[in-house]
Amino acid sequence: MREFSVKNYLRSGLKLPFCPGCGAYTIIDCFLKAVFNLGYNDLRKFVFCSGIGCSAWIPSPYFNADSIHTPHGRAIPVATAVKLIRPELNVVVFGGDGDIAGIGGNHLIHAARRNVDITVIMVNNMVYGMTGGQVAPTTPLGYKTTTTPKGCFEYPIDAVKLVSVLGASYAARWTTAHKKELIKAFEEAIESKGFSFVEVISQCPTNFGRRINLRGSAEMLKWFKENSVSLEEAEKLGWDKVEGKFVVGVFARKRRPTLAENMRRAASVG
Ligand code: SF4
Repeated sequence: MREFSVKNYLRSGLKLPFCPGCGAYTIIDCFLKAVFNLGYNDLRKFVFCSGIGCSAWIPSPYFNADSIHTPHGRAIPVATAVKLIRPELNVVVFGGDGDIAGIGGNHLIHAARRNVDITVIMVNNMVYGMTGGQVAPTTPLGYKTTTTPKGCFEYPIDAVKLVSVLGASYAARWTTAHKKELIKAFEEAIESKGFSFVEVISQCPTNFGRRINLRGSAEMLKWFKENSVSLEEAEKLGWDKVEGKFVVGVFARKRRPTLAENMRRAASVG
């Protein structure tokens, strides 16, 4: 009888670097549970790529696996290269919203468009957490950050909708208050052929929660739960009615030829 333990997948002797109450702990637990559920007893069939930021530390060096720490925002092109060279491996990118949708936003767009067969997990804590809580492209309108003390005056990017429109094979959004759904989404993302994307709305009590008057992770999780709306409900009510809410669910699920398949087909012509 197999029994799940995160210890089976983590390097021994290393202490995770996250603040108490950080959503990264839940994400690690859910991701490794998904890996276990898919029948993997170790991470030998995985390669992890990450950039810079708190969430980039999720896999590397803590997962007992091959991993690459790239410059800020550049994990996706490195992951693309790894996948083209080693197609038999599961290539997974972990990054924060600043890393993936901000500094690496251009790479996100083109990986989804090309349908590169990788999984991108974007941990959205709505600020640049590691560098002190500066405004990010995901910060909700009106919310205070260290660089927008009177409130953010820009509209946030909806990365899940963006990659869905661009042709991602799988795209889902959940929060750290939705553990069961998150595990399932990670399983589906790893299993799906083509570009798969999971956005996790995650709490940063240190550099965001306290600035918006939410004291600690329990209050942030309550905020996520009380303000989550299912995709089906959002479509029924109309998107203008759910502005500012966390719309959760599976946004894209389809099979279309991947970048490697299209390259092989092009190479075989004429
Ligand atoms: Fe987590 Fe925020 Fe601390 Fe970074 S700064 S480890 S995101 S709580």
